[in-house]
Amino acid sequence: MNKSISINPATEEKIAVYNRLTVEETQQKIEKAHQVFKEWKHTSYIKRAQLMNKLADELENNTDYYAEIATSEMGKTIGQSRKEVEKCAWVCRYYAENTKDLLQDNTVKTEAEKSYVTFQPLGVVLAVMPWNFPYYQVIRFLAPALMAGNTGVLKHASNVQGCAFAIEKAITKVGFPKGIFSNLNVASDAIEAVIEHKRIVAVTLTGSAPAGQSVASIAGKNLKKTVLELGGNDAYIVLDDADLEEATDLATLGRLQNNGQTCIAAKRIIVLDKIYDAFLKLYKEKMEAAKMGEPTNENTYYGPLARLDLRDELHKQVEKTIEQGGTLILGGKIPNRKGAYYPATILTDLKDGMEAFNEELFGPVASVIRAKDEAHAIELANNSKFGLGAGVITRDKKKGEKIALQLEAGSCFVNKLVASDPRLPFGGIKTSGFGRELSGYGIKEFVNTKTIWID
Ligand code: NDP
Repeated sequence: MNKSISINPATEEKIAVYNRLTVEETQQKIEKAHQVFKEWKHTSYIKRAQLMNKLADELENNTDYYAEIATSEMGKTIGQSRKEVEKCAWVCRYYAENTKDLLQDNTVKTEAEKSYVTFQPLGVVLAVMPWNFPYYQVIRFLAPALMAGNTGVLKHASNVQGCAFAIEKAITKVGFPKGIFSNLNVASDAIEAVIEHKRIVAVTLTGSAPAGQSVASIAGKNLKKTVLELGGNDAYIVLDDADLEEATDLATLGRLQNNGQTCIAAKRIIVLDKIYDAFLKLYKEKMEAAKMGEPTNENTYYGPLARLDLRDELHKQVEKTIEQGGTLILGGKIPNRKGAYYPATILTDLKDGMEAFNEELFGPVASVIRAKDEAHAIELANNSKFGLGAGVITRDKKKGEKIALQLEAGSCFVNKLVASDPRLPFGGIKTSGFGRELSGYGIKEFVNTKTIWID
């Protein structure tokens, strides 16, 4: 198809149709990003930071404008869309303020008269991004990339081209050189040629495992550096000393925020036997009470899924889990209303081999799993092909930390939902991907870590 279409998932109404780029237009934008790179790499951190702060101002001064596009295109509640835009501004300011320090030359004592490590930009980075955080996923790559002196092109998800163009416009509006960042509205089958393009130096992708496998294998064939942030099936261990109110609040928000479509959502909640029944009773009450509805309504807790096909796919995964022996405690039925809605759902009696235990369920479906004791809980948590985030809920912080150190994941949080934070690295192990975003670790993924030796 030579067009991408934005459809409001709450109403099923068409919002806009965007013409896709031709091969020539795509190549021109990549070439332009390379031409800009030749100048941009020589700019000072001060100049880059001024522009990055202006981008943050633009996002903060027009939060509602950006938030409304996201809510209409992918259905997240308007309050959460605003928070996403504000978080983007935070990432911009973090890198504006810290890049000079993060990328400072590092002198190393050797036999040389002088030897040090310096961090130089690489060129045009391609980002392939998903629709679930349509601004944040892009800014998380773009702010460090531009601050490091790189330029970028974006292949955004087809259903959020309004957001993609809004970011592109914002970049030019605040005064970055024209062409430093371009949205390539192309289909995913055009990405092979983009990766192969001689001006593209590296690729970062956030999304599903199949998309990651395809992009990483093409990049590998072309020997281009890749960072992948793929899915997760995060486990939260609830120990038997946990405050049940707090634990069930965290598990409810952790599963329903962003309409259940978060890579680091609390998907498998592993509860110790002693408190399992009490936890499940309270959790069911809270999940049931959370209000599903119009994402534009300020009182809505969670809205529809981003697309009808994603909702149908999720429902199939729930049905499959039940056929495999899982028990449906709540939800699990497609509501009789317009829009890609799916109710808060709880599955129990899950075992290794069942869909909800093994795969990512990208929607408001929680798996509650009973563990005999702490060792069993850790074993269950680590019995996953994914390794993105994990959590422990307990009053005993020391014990929580001890368990966090044993969990196989890129981020482990005690008594808090896993969240990305510009000051800390974010990414996964196992099939959740490789490489890191954010912090000093993230910005160094796309630089030449270069050794200089003067004898
Ligand atoms: P995809 O992973 O397919 O899409 C993410 C991005 O990758 C989009 O820009 C998409 O473009 C692009 N893409 C897809 N396939 C390829 C490919 N072969 N080559 C290059 N680019 C590609 O996610 P979906 O929207 O299809 O969602 C499917 C499932 O993926 C979800 O149900 C969820 O399980 C998982 N997912 C996980 C996310 C996470 O953060 N962990 C985020 C989004 C999805 P286009 O839109 O044009 O297809």
